[in-house]
Amino acid sequence: MLGGLGLPLTAVRISQATQLRGILPALIFLKDKPAKYQSARRSGVKVDEIVLHATESGGDQTASLNYLSHADDRQVSVHYWIGRDYGLIYSMVPENRKANHAETHNDRAVGIEMYQLDGFKGDYTDWQYNAVSQLVYEIRWRWNIAKDMVVPHSKLTSQRGDPKNFDWSRFNQSIDMISLRALVTLGPDFALS
Ligand SMILES: [Zn+2]
Repeated sequence: MLGGLGLPLTAVRISQATQLRGILPALIFLKDKPAKYQSARRSGVKVDEIVLHATESGGDQTASLNYLSHADDRQVSVHYWIGRDYGLIYSMVPENRKANHAETHNDRAVGIEMYQLDGFKGDYTDWQYNAVSQLVYEIRWRWNIAKDMVVPHSKLTSQRGDPKNFDWSRFNQSIDMISLRALVTLGPDFALS
């Protein structure tokens, strides 16, 4: 199963997903780091939202990743974690299962955490912009998720301000470029509508 996502894809869709991976090179680096706090999604709820997060806890990124794999104090988790350095990207919860990252939205949402060195500087790396754009593109394509359903955690709760200082216009331009490349090189089935 591509990327260990556990999705019920048809043979055609699996073949298409493999083709799409060819223009999403950051996803070659995806590794598994299973999170302890995950559960079944409520049946009948469609996955239709992607929530972007950024850590604000400081410390080193390996400690942050390890914490999210067994956050015994807060029982939080995310589907994906993207570190600051080239090649650092982990799948922690399969998308067809629920992670604990977005309060009442957990049943419908896929959560992506970016490790941020300083929450106030907006110091995301080029790797993080590339990786999150490619990852979000693939998730939107697989689940048919609308652009306006990719949201910051801060939109869902006044308690959290993350991802602070994330450059949404850079991110959206990157997604548009991937969609154009997908259309030109692979065909209309691969572009986002
Ligand atoms: Zn968050």
